[in-house]
Amino acid sequence: MSEARETTARFLETADRQHAAVIHLPLERAEADCGPSSVAIAWLGSFHARRLLVHISGVHGVEGLAGALVQTELLRRAPRLAAGVAAVWIHGVNRFGMEQLRRTNRLNVDLNRNCLENPEYYRGNDPLYGKLAWLVLPGRRRHSRPFGWFLARILVWAVRYGIGPLAQAIAAGQYEYPTGLFYGGNGLAEETALLLSWAEEHLSGRTVIGLIDFHTGLGRFGRSLVLGDTVISGRDQGVRATPATGGNHRPAQAAYAARGELVAALARRCQATFVRRCTHEVGTYAMARVLWVLSEENHFWHQHPDGPQSALWRKRLKHVFVPAHSSWRKALIQESEKVWRKWLDWASTS
Ligand SMILES: [Zn+2]
Repeated sequence: MSEARETTARFLETADRQHAAVIHLPLERAEADCGPSSVAIAWLGSFHARRLLVHISGVHGVEGLAGALVQTELLRRAPRLAAGVAAVWIHGVNRFGMEQLRRTNRLNVDLNRNCLENPEYYRGNDPLYGKLAWLVLPGRRRHSRPFGWFLARILVWAVRYGIGPLAQAIAAGQYEYPTGLFYGGNGLAEETALLLSWAEEHLSGRTVIGLIDFHTGLGRFGRSLVLGDTVISGRDQGVRATPATGGNHRPAQAAYAARGELVAALARRCQATFVRRCTHEVGTYAMARVLWVLSEENHFWHQHPDGPQSALWRKRLKHVFVPAHSSWRKALIQESEKVWRKWLDWASTS
């Protein structure tokens, strides 16, 4: 059984043991080799609760393996919820990527760059992106490139353009190169469309909704970053967002503003008096190393998908987003529980 299936099975068993309701959102286009063909949701507490805390994982496929560990532990250790409060876990949003150890879905779409409100927005990229073909697009070569070579090259670009503009050009999201890194697609992907319409129908009409979108790979090893912590009032939803108290704002480590983030789209779709949202990152390795593995993995996936190099680089991708080190895994659970409990307090009392 694949790691994705095993971790999902444990999540579902824990949900069952904790008497959480489980909802499956079926993915129509799932293929036989992609594991469970649905997005699983565990719901603890009443469906009619006025206050909800929603934890989302696996938007970036492979990161969902860490998300599964986190969600299983949060469910297992969930305290008794106050009356009128429910906790919801949305598990493995990008099922294909979680199963195949990729960050994107089967069409190479980065689901966290995919949620744009207007079909006309699915175009364009940073002018610098096109100049970075050696990094962001698959090439013709048969061999992988050493990290030293990659690092030397990226340093030259960082000196020439600045780290901020470089990170922005690479990671903000692009809509012109379907085989490139951080490709946002040409319309809502099946997974995001499904989740957004489910959320609009089933999460709306509450007093308070907290949305935590869980990711890995950004920030220092085993340390938390809470990005874009924002409260939106239902009265001026989509017009004005105010920073939540106690939230860290996009720090230097996240030197780019992404387009089409799922959690921002969910916050816009869910009608509630107050919606608070954030992206919770647990850091792994330095950005240059993560980018190197992303670049090599993307190359071999597109050029030789069934070859041994593709399998090897996907395993490396898993390691840079979900390190096997016990210290990292311990910190992963501790940091995640800290954020989740703080948000549960907020959702229960504000
Ligand atoms: Zn991510």
